[in-house]
Amino acid sequence: NMKKLSIFIIILLNSGLFPPLYGQDKFEKERKKMIKNQIQSRGITDKKTLEAIESVPRHLFVPDEYRDRAYDDGPLPIGYGQTISQPYIVAYMTELLNVGPDDIVLEIGTGSGYQAAVLSRIVKKVYTVEIIEELGLAAKERLKALNYDNVEVKIGDGYYGWEEHAPYDGIIVTAASENIPPPLIKQLKDNCNMIIPVGSPFNIQNLMLVKKSGGKITTKSLIPVRFVPLTRKK
Ligand code: SAH
Repeated sequence: NMKKLSIFIIILLNSGLFPPLYGQDKFEKERKKMIKNQIQSRGITDKKTLEAIESVPRHLFVPDEYRDRAYDDGPLPIGYGQTISQPYIVAYMTELLNVGPDDIVLEIGTGSGYQAAVLSRIVKKVYTVEIIEELGLAAKERLKALNYDNVEVKIGDGYYGWEEHAPYDGIIVTAASENIPPPLIKQLKDNCNMIIPVGSPFNIQNLMLVKKSGGKITTKSLIPVRFVPLTRKK
């Protein structure tokens, strides 16, 4: 009888009568596949990063009409001409930032809030700045609804960073800049990392690892990437 009952329950769960339950399971499976096929297969091994990505429901950070493509191997539109980054790029940047549970991180370019949510599973606090008010407010709402309580969103021009909470144990810029904004260098703690795509908005850019040590800056070019441009308030 137990067998009969469990078969009945399985049929019921798959019947479509409980889309929230079944849907959740479907996305969880897709997320696991994404981690294996797109992220681990390309060399990401950091446990904190992999666990953080596994825990964040990426499908809730994309517009409804793209929900079924949330775990695809690429960026997706999030409105206002902006995009949520490719999962692998989020993982790669997160791993390289090399931050931990006591750290305070600054992100420039909140977008959907996805990268901030991933980082928030690893660090103590994430401050994130978004220049498009509608996107920033939507991300703020979303992060609150999903209980990412250690993320704070500000609307503003991230070129100037977020002075109030500086210096940061890590800075991640998710929009392409022609140069490394001097205010961000200033707000980076000594012996800490900044990850930033540098280059022309109309071209392939270079993802750069910027390190500050003894007050000195060293930069290392990592991989070619294509990000939306870091825009400036006029
Ligand atoms: N990290 C985001 C993706 C970012 S797309 C995510 O996980 O979804 C880049 C974002 O940077 C866009 O939302 C864009 O509006 C924002 N942006 C561009 N220039 C900016 C600036 N000067 N300051 C803050 N945000 C900026």
